[in-house]
Amino acid sequence: MLRSAVCGLVPRVVRRSAGPSVRHLSAAAIPVPSAQPEVHFNQLFINNEWVDAQSRKTFPTINPATGEVICQVAEADQADVNRAVKAARDAFRLGSPWRRMDASQRGLLLSRLADAIERDAAYLAELETLDNGKPYAISYMVDIPTVVKCLRYYAGWADKWEGKTIPIDGDYFCYTRHEPVGVCGQIIPWNFPLLMQAWKLGPALATGNTVVMKVAEQTPLTALYVANLIKEVGFPEGVVNILPGMGPTAGAAIAGHMDVDKVAFTGSTEVGQLIQQAAGTSNLKKVTLELGGKSPNIILSDSNMEEAVEQSHFALFFNQGQCCCAGSRTYVQADIYDEFLERSAERARKRVVGNPFDLKTEQGPQVDQEQFNKILGYISTGKKEGAKLMCGGGVAADRGYYIQPTVFGDVQDNMTIAREEIFGPVMQILKFNTLEEVITRANDSKYGLAAGIFTKDIDKAHYVANGLRAGTVWINCYDVFGAQAPFGGYKSSGIGRELGEYGLENYTEVKTVTIKVPQKNS
Ligand code: NAD
Ligand code: MG
Repeated sequence: MLRSAVCGLVPRVVRRSAGPSVRHLSAAAIPVPSAQPEVHFNQLFINNEWVDAQSRKTFPTINPATGEVICQVAEADQADVNRAVKAARDAFRLGSPWRRMDASQRGLLLSRLADAIERDAAYLAELETLDNGKPYAISYMVDIPTVVKCLRYYAGWADKWEGKTIPIDGDYFCYTRHEPVGVCGQIIPWNFPLLMQAWKLGPALATGNTVVMKVAEQTPLTALYVANLIKEVGFPEGVVNILPGMGPTAGAAIAGHMDVDKVAFTGSTEVGQLIQQAAGTSNLKKVTLELGGKSPNIILSDSNMEEAVEQSHFALFFNQGQCCCAGSRTYVQADIYDEFLERSAERARKRVVGNPFDLKTEQGPQVDQEQFNKILGYISTGKKEGAKLMCGGGVAADRGYYIQPTVFGDVQDNMTIAREEIFGPVMQILKFNTLEEVITRANDSKYGLAAGIFTKDIDKAHYVANGLRAGTVWINCYDVFGAQAPFGGYKSSGIGRELGEYGLENYTEVKTVTIKVPQKNS
């Protein structure tokens, strides 16, 4: 029963409040986690084998709740990328087991992978929480079920991604085939390690590509466990290769590789620009990018105040504020501004920060020292530039990378904290008067990933939604994701869409085949 209750869209569980409902559900149904899950895999996964880096180099992965080293992990660089690309290329050769496999069988393998992840959900959630710091209740009830749903969704597409027959002029039969692009490089971030892996693997494998994936250096462990499941369920050798390693070495080697046909990247806009440059100066590989944001969340004066406060809190603070689509510019209409500001600060003060393995915890540590320092830097810039600190603003524990839930009021559009992506638990609240004004101000950003609107007036909701330049608009909700619905950015927030049917296009070459059809008397 719990499964069906929690396996809905990501935020359903957390929607009501990231507090009480999670706590209520958790007591009844979440397995008691071990805070010290054993690590089984820490090498490179190439050609369905576990190997050390050719350089023998390793790097430590850190538990962000304590700052302690969990274990050493093999560190891939150019030589290992070459080895993995070769394996992926061989798996993609004409006549290989993978190329000859029925599409329905590819779907079945993806489906079995989803089953295996579901079977090991409790362990995977422990490992995710250990490596990333996100609350176990969220790993178990939100991240893992969403991963499983994503893989099952794309499993279903494997034998349904159809071409067309096309009525061209003349005596011809013309049709299109949807073919895989080939060897796909995939570079993923640390904020949703398992989910970003699933978003990338699902469409790539459903459409018959092979993969060389570089996982984030902050959070390599769960992706490696999933690599083992990929082997267990029977994917042929070389179809998926998984490399932990650093961005400027392993990541850059993928982006610039002459034998990689496509690169898909999720992370910062700055690195996204490097990826596209590398693709351009190497072999013009196809590029899809899912980058940063500074998403406006617009609260109209007729909205339900309690819901709007809770949802806006969730929109910003979910996942320690480490979401590319975080509602990080909260625009509130003038006549409700003071009350909204006060109530948002009150909600943030109540947010439960602490040990991520404690089921009461709403907010764990930031992912690493670098993010921790960066966020504290933004808080201090906010204060210096004259924003009003309503609550928080400091470090929340004497070890680990914990930051107090922080709310700034009286934020102005030109302040650094209103323009740059903070990627932490720091909320900016701004005042507006008219809809025309707020649309213009909301669009005045280099980003265009997502937006939120809270109102009871359907006409206003549509008017604002149509005017916003963003890839996703949520109305009276936030962070509602479904594997079926596309996600991606306008402007500097990205290129292409992930999820849904649209997500398949990024992994497909369209081949047009035209056949002369002789006419009876010709
Ligand atoms: P990043 O962009 O540096 O890292 C994302 C991934 O790219 C990682 O796997 C990393 O190793 C790799 N990478 C880094 N440099 C690379 C290069 N030159 N070539 C190829 N790959 C490279 O992000 P970060 O340093 O972890 O975080 C910095 C900021 O990025 C955050 O504060 C946040 O604003 C943003 N970010 C966004 C997302 C998102 O979901 N869009 C995720 C993580 C971080
Ligand atoms: Mg880590």
